[in-house]
Amino acid sequence: MTILLIDLDGTLTDTAHEKFKPFKDGLEETNLEEIPLIPGAKEFIQDIQKKGYEAIIVSDSHPNYVKKIAEQIFQLEYISLCDKPNFGKAKQYLIDRCFDTVGHPHINTDKDSFFVIGDTWLDIEFGRALNVATILTNFYSASGEENRDGIGQDWKHLKSGATYFVNKFDEIHDILLNPLQNLLAVEGIFQNQNTTKAVRFKTTKYPERFIAYRTLGRQQAGECDKFAVADKYFEFQRADRTQETLQKLGKATSNFLSFVMQSMPNVTWDYFTFVSDKKTTQPPNKLSELFDSVETTITKQKFILWTEEIEGSIRNQKDYKSRKEFVDKHIFLSNETDLQGKNIIILDDQFTTGGTAYSICGKFIEKGVKNIIFVTLFYLITTVESERVCPHCGTKLQVKVNRNKGTRFLSCVPQKYGGNGCGNFIENIV
Ligand SMILES: [Zn+2]
Repeated sequence: MTILLIDLDGTLTDTAHEKFKPFKDGLEETNLEEIPLIPGAKEFIQDIQKKGYEAIIVSDSHPNYVKKIAEQIFQLEYISLCDKPNFGKAKQYLIDRCFDTVGHPHINTDKDSFFVIGDTWLDIEFGRALNVATILTNFYSASGEENRDGIGQDWKHLKSGATYFVNKFDEIHDILLNPLQNLLAVEGIFQNQNTTKAVRFKTTKYPERFIAYRTLGRQQAGECDKFAVADKYFEFQRADRTQETLQKLGKATSNFLSFVMQSMPNVTWDYFTFVSDKKTTQPPNKLSELFDSVETTITKQKFILWTEEIEGSIRNQKDYKSRKEFVDKHIFLSNETDLQGKNIIILDDQFTTGGTAYSICGKFIEKGVKNIIFVTLFYLITTVESERVCPHCGTKLQVKVNRNKGTRFLSCVPQKYGGNGCGNFIENIV
């Protein structure tokens, strides 16, 4: 039995606009005739029910509003006033729903059988806190007036780290049928699947060119579904990384490159290159070893070079601006090849602020390069808080991942590591 926890506003109903707020807050009686549905929503719900999936609406809105829509339009059960991303209320509901009074499950409660579906970062962080797979929907385009949570915060909904991204209801059916085959390329390879998916961070189209930023795996700093790959990210950074992991990361990159070539038959990719390692980078040749293991018919060539004198490390530059300045100053491109009018794909290990990517793409454009895809193996997704609080100071604990072992632990994160806790509590998660 698969159970879908589906958000209401913006996912099934097109009600992100301010004018629906009095209904959603329960201040006015909801008039169903005024509630626009996302096209295909009703058919989608009927279809999944026919296929034997259970669906539950999970909404932050008022019970009067949610009940009316859930029961009269969709014939679904619902949880209202959820206060996502907090999951206490939903979890209790599911426990009551899935277990009998003496605690025996009467339906399958395996975490693999749950999916959270929604259009905002609140839905995704809610799902991650429950450790289940999440599907971020993009069924409507937000206007300035609409109140879509997270709009205006740069990439907030992408950085919340959904397992899957969809633009149409149909794509959800395929994910439910083939969850492993729809994973991001780097996450799929560690489930022994040759997948080609990437997070489409940003695509900038100009009359004469496009620049696309893509990433192939999530580096989680907290609760997540089991597919995220922070442990592989940390292994990749270590000198004792295994050949097997390197080969798999190379294979995931190859899979993505094949997909790019197939999906854009009109673009000839002239070069595949990488953000090369500084002499001082540990492990040495961190990225070039990976680059060498990528199999592709695109010509591989090294273009990116570091200046001899480098003060500091990119890792110590915390924000977008200082990272970009650091790269602007210390990276240059080799002059050996004429890049005028060429199309190029650039590989890097991690996407954090975007500063490195923007700076490097700018340098290629100065050389006359046409289209660019900047792809990274990993991107850092947001931290999700635990529901537990620190026994010393009452701050919500965060789930962290140990850099060396990949194990998870609860921490009262102090200010110097970006939290607001006392720093006096750590507990391993078994
Ligand atoms: Zn504390």
